[in-house]
Amino acid sequence: MKHEVEIAVKPKEIKDNDLIVRMACDKAGITIDTIDDWEINKQSIDARGRQIVYRLKITLYIGEERQLPVSIKEAFSVHAKSKTALIIGAGPAGYFAALQLLKQGIRPILLERGKDVQARRRDLKAIQQDARVNPHSNYCFGEGGAGTYSDGKLYTRSHKRGNIQEILEILVEHGAKTDILKDAHPHIGSNKLPGIIANLRKTIEEYGGEIHFDAFVTDFMISNNNLEGVIDAQGKQYKADATILATGHSARDIFRLLDEKQIEIEAKPFAIGVRIEHPQSEIDHIQYRQRQREENLPASSYRVVTQVDDVGVFSFCMCPGGLIVPAATAPGEIVVNGMSLSRRDSPYANSGFVTAIDNSTINQLGYRGKLANLQFQEAVEQAMFQNGDGSQQAPALRMTDFTQSRLSSDLNASSYIPGLYPAPLYDILPQVISDRLSRGMEAIGRKMKGFYTREANVVGVESRTSSPVRIPRDPQTLMHPLHGLFPCGEGAGYAGGILSAAMDGQRVADAVAVYYSA
Ligand SMILES: Cc1cc2nc3c(=O)[nH]c(=O)nc-3n(C[C@H](O)[C@H](O)[C@H](O)COP(=O)(O)OP(=O)(O)OC[C@H]3O[C@@H](n4cnc5c(N)ncnc54)[C@H](O)[C@@H]3O)c2cc1C
Repeated sequence: MKHEVEIAVKPKEIKDNDLIVRMACDKAGITIDTIDDWEINKQSIDARGRQIVYRLKITLYIGEERQLPVSIKEAFSVHAKSKTALIIGAGPAGYFAALQLLKQGIRPILLERGKDVQARRRDLKAIQQDARVNPHSNYCFGEGGAGTYSDGKLYTRSHKRGNIQEILEILVEHGAKTDILKDAHPHIGSNKLPGIIANLRKTIEEYGGEIHFDAFVTDFMISNNNLEGVIDAQGKQYKADATILATGHSARDIFRLLDEKQIEIEAKPFAIGVRIEHPQSEIDHIQYRQRQREENLPASSYRVVTQVDDVGVFSFCMCPGGLIVPAATAPGEIVVNGMSLSRRDSPYANSGFVTAIDNSTINQLGYRGKLANLQFQEAVEQAMFQNGDGSQQAPALRMTDFTQSRLSSDLNASSYIPGLYPAPLYDILPQVISDRLSRGMEAIGRKMKGFYTREANVVGVESRTSSPVRIPRDPQTLMHPLHGLFPCGEGAGYAGGILSAAMDGQRVADAVAVYYSA
């Protein structure tokens, strides 16, 4: 028998398991010696009242044990003669597609343009410290994809609970802390993610999958509207009846290749803006009413949204206690994004602050065709690269100067290692965007006192929020009109984050299994 109860504990009590189980038993009206097992299923922070509390959902087991997750490996059924499928891209969509193919008895062959997670670190250091951007190995490209050196937030707006739980359990099986199974806002941290990704790779290889690094796919082999395989930059050919294309939102060369080969794609609206960085203590003051956080309270976060001229302006990928990082994928551009370590203990809080831009606005700005949105995105990123010294220094302003189109005489301290310099961001961004962002910042500041402040920097540009291109697929078969091509993940326009990309990978792998069984 199971008893489900909800209790609230103070932050200083959250690590006291004896107290928590006693409180849960009291609430359920049972004595502690009658229970066989117990677990916290959900944990969230409630900062609305005078006393901040953790709200816990607890299951007490009487006369039965809790069921432990089954290892994903028990479901693998691949043997030497299994059919193979190609996967291009080793991001969350690619790796979870590979695991799901193994479950379906299909051997995945993964091609990744970048390096393994360990080797990738050196290229991230080169961007941060020497402004050298390797177009194949950076914050977006390489094993684990864009999610690896990120914040590792694991939330999604999707409500497919079963799949979410399965993905979280697979991550735990590969080294993530069990906390992610119960936290309302699970988070891994960029210091822990690489180890987990490496363990996923070992599982895929151990059960018959192949993973090729430095395999930059540059061409498709097509015959009679059938995709028969792909060719990499070294001219090596890889063939299979199905190819899962999971190359992410930054693979501009792949979008250009698709367009060149007249493989159907569409311009997709996306969101663009800046990254805002506050002192973490300011956000804690707003959210917890404490500048010095009490014991066991994590760095606080926010999610804000407002409407300006009926268009949404919203925060995106907030990183409490995090760092702003240079996320360019080619030399000559400036792109910023956010990440954090598992402890989220930097003195800064950053988040994307963006607004949607639709196809017609982009057309009015002079960009046309299926690659219009990509070209617009690229042009804005290149316009940000104007410091003249070739560095990855990013243009920035104090928030109150940004909204008043005024150049800041100096900037606040920042976590961004390559450095910031004052620049007229309000002019570098298209006016329609900077106007909307400015009014959005002021509007949020009226609702959330302390948000709109000269103590915050506004940094350009947050442009890789989602893909500027959609690669169409049939809603049932998930196949593109080009036979054998299965567009997948964020780059194809079907995901927006680590979890949703992983779920799309699983879904597409199942679709490949159906295609093979027909
Ligand atoms: C700095 C940063 C922080 C982020 N923080 C979070 C977060 O906290 N939580 C969250 O949910 N999301 C976060 N995101 C977004 C998240 O990482 C993406 O949504 C997710 O990784 C998309 O998964 P994907 O597999 O579809 O594509 P990607 O992760 O982009 O993977 C695509 C892969 O394809 C490879 N590739 C591209 N072109 C080729 C080619 N021609 N040949 C071979 N391989 C190729 C790339 O190298 C890459 O490894 C963050 C992103 C960044 C950049």
